[in-house]
Formats: sequence, C-alpha cells, structure tokens
Amino acid sequence: MRNIAVLGATGSIGGNTLDVIARHPERFRASVLTAHRQVEALVALCVQHRPDLAVIADPALEADLSRRLTAAGVRCEIASGHAALTAAASGNLCDTVVAAIVGAAGLESTLAAARAGKHLLLANKESIVMAGPLLLHAVAAGGGALVPVDSEHNAIFQCLPGGRPDLRRSGVRRLVLTASGGPFRGRTRAELADITPDQACKHPNWVMGRKISVDSATLMNKGLEVIEAHHLFGAPAEAIDVVVHPQSLVHSMVEYVDGSVLAQLGNPDMRTPIAHALAYPERVDSGVAQLDLVQVASLSFEKPDYERFPCLALAMQALSAGGIASAALNAANEVAVEAFLERRIGFTDIAQTVAAVLDAVPNQRPDELATVLEADAAARRAAIDFIARRPIAGRTAVHRDRANRALQ
Ligand code: NDP
Ligand code: MG
Repeated sequence: MRNIAVLGATGSIGGNTLDVIARHPERFRASVLTAHRQVEALVALCVQHRPDLAVIADPALEADLSRRLTAAGVRCEIASGHAALTAAASGNLCDTVVAAIVGAAGLESTLAAARAGKHLLLANKESIVMAGPLLLHAVAAGGGALVPVDSEHNAIFQCLPGGRPDLRRSGVRRLVLTASGGPFRGRTRAELADITPDQACKHPNWVMGRKISVDSATLMNKGLEVIEAHHLFGAPAEAIDVVVHPQSLVHSMVEYVDGSVLAQLGNPDMRTPIAHALAYPERVDSGVAQLDLVQVASLSFEKPDYERFPCLALAMQALSAGGIASAALNAANEVAVEAFLERRIGFTDIAQTVAAVLDAVPNQRPDELATVLEADAAARRAAIDFIARRPIAGRTAVHRDRANRALQ
C-alpha cells in the first residue's frame, strides 16, 4: 500500500491523481491532501478520500478548514502555512509525494520530499527549472526516486532503458519533445496582440490549470520543458529538439544512434503519466480511453516558430546561459502570466517582460537554495518594475493604475 501526499490536491493534476488513486484502493491511499486557498474544494476531497492530514497553505484559512471538516464529519490532522507543507512532504504520513503545486511556490515542499527520500512524482516543473542540480542532488542524497509526471518527460522516461541512464553510453542521440503548438498555432504576430486570458486558457487538447495553459499558448511551457529535460535526463541543450505535433498523441521521443526512434503514444489525458508514475515499475489501469489510431488516421509534425513564440527561444537562451538564468526566466514568466491573467498586460507583453528581466538580472552560480531564492525575488521585482514602467502600446489608464498598485 502506497501512502501518497498529493500537494496541490485541488488542482488539475491533483484531481487527476486522486482519480487514479481512487481506482486502486488496494494499492494506493491519499494520506495527505493540500491546497492553497480553496477550502471548500479541499473539504470535499477530504470527505471522499479520508486523508490523515489536510494542509491549507494560507494560515488565515485554517480555522475555516477546521470548522468545515468537523461539520462534514471528517476527523484528520489539520495544519496550515508553508512550513506545514514542507513538513507534510517530508513527514512519516506518506512514502510517496505528488508534487503538483503550481509555480515556484512548490519548490520548497518538492525539495523537502526529495531530501526525505520520498518516491517523488514530479509535476511541478518550475521547481526543477529553478533549481535542477539542487533538486537532483537532494533526490540522490535522500535515496528516493524521481519519476516525471509531465507527459513529455514521462514519455522519454518510458523510452529510455532504466529511466535515467547515461545517455551517451546508452546510444541516445537526441531527445525530441513534442509540443501541441497551443491554441494560437496558426495566428500571425499581429493577431496574437489581442488575445484574451480566456482564449489563452482554452487549450485544444488538454484541460489544465490557468498558468500552464497560458504557458502552453506562449510556448514558454515547452521552453520550461526543454530545461526540465536537460536536468532530468542529463542531456546537453544541443541534444534536445522540439517538434510541433498538433494532435498531442505522440508525447515525446528518444532517438538512438542506430536510427531507432522510440516514442510513447496515448490519448492526451494526464492520468496515463500519473498512473505510470504511481505504479512504476508496474502498470495499472488509469481510466484513459484506448487510443484508436485508425480513427486518428494521421499524425503531423512541423517546426516550432521561434519568432511568433519568442518565449521558447528565451528559455533556450536561459538554458545556455546557465547559472540562475532559468530561475530568473521562470520568476519573470510567473509575474507576467499573472499580470496577463489579470488583464494588466497583453499576451505578447509576456515575452517582452521575460526578455527584459533576463537582461536586467545579473547571472551567478546557484550553489545553494538561498541564491536561487534571491534570484527568484530579484527577477520578480524586475518584472513588476518593467510592467509598471514601460509604455505599452495602447495601454489604458486602468492598466497603468493596476500595474502601479501591483508595484506597491
Ligand atoms: P492548478 O492551478 O490546476 O492547481 C494548482 C494547485 O496548487 C492547487 O491545488 C492550488 O491550490 C495549489 N497552489 C497554488 N498556489 C499555491 C501556493 N502558493 N502554495 C501552496 N499551494 C498552492 O495547476 P495544475 O494542476 O495545472 O499544475 C500543477 C503543476 O503541474 C504545475 O507546475 C504545472 O506546470 C504542472 N503540470 C500540469 C499539467 C496539467 O495537465 N495540468 C501537465 C504537466 C505539468 P488552490 O486550488 O487552493 O488554489
Ligand atoms: Mg508537458
């Protein structure tokens, strides 16, 4: 029986994870559930899954959570705040941790799980982008295992012998990440300027949280994934390619020196990589419909357009710069995406903000967590400053007002 902590249980990955867990009560148990502010949704999950511990990240909501759990007849431990999150991720109520908090907010609990030697199922890509070497070192020191949940990396993991081998010795020539191209694949640069948050969040193939949906629309998601692949599999940047595959059925590929290309295919449903990671090295039913290739009939592939989608190029630039550049890229992107979702900036301003921050924040070696967190904070300040100060074409007084308030 695996006792599983689902960090970010109220999110899209959290929900899919709990769906797979509920299908196998003889194998899996959700022993810890966490959320940020969605108390009601967390209570509903506790009623269904009866965990040992429920954590709400916002301490102001602990009393409300406690009241509602009592009213719902759920008896479990309750905790709140970020220290409680890291304690839950490393404590003895779980042996497995699904890291599914969105953004840099997931870094410390992911690191805590790794250090404690948990079986770590990594969805929170931002943590490996920010602090790849530190996270991998923590996994090695803790003696646990890391299985990627991100569908592309889970696909590559499945196509490599033993998950994370020495690529050169295994005869790997190239990792090929597939990208759907997002909802605006065919749009011109001019058309991209007027995209609204709701349009950006409507992904053609996947249903996901709002932040990653915007990242998929800008292709920053693929950029973060190139950095994630570099760290996870020890692949140099030159050995990682991105190919646009609009059907999202081939989740990624590994090319070997003999010309063999191994791919992992499946319907675009995160329950497949989640079930793989939960049961690894065994296999369990995920509830995902069988892939009907005859009905699909054809698969297509094309080159990504780095000019219309500069975020992908910016991520590659950060990867080759090394040091804290990826952490700065990630932080700037988080600030810009939030500003876009709040309609304070336009869609194409996201890339401009990230580019400006990469230029503004001095690079250094990320030897310890404190350096990474300082870089994250400096990049956030630079992004907020850039958004507030730059004369964005067509920006209204309302935009400027909101941006200035965010700066205060
Ligand atoms: P969602 O926005 O749907 O869910 C995010 C979860 O994190 C929620 O439970 C939320 O709680 C919690 N959370 C948000 N902010 C904080 C915080 N400051 N402190 C503690 N908890 C917090 O995101 P997704 O499920 O879409 O994505 C989660 C992660 O998985 C991301 O890193 C994403 O890149 C990655 N991923 C997602 C995929 C997908 O299909 N969705 C695919 C591959 C990777 P609350 O509900 O209370 O706000
Ligand atoms: Mg992915």
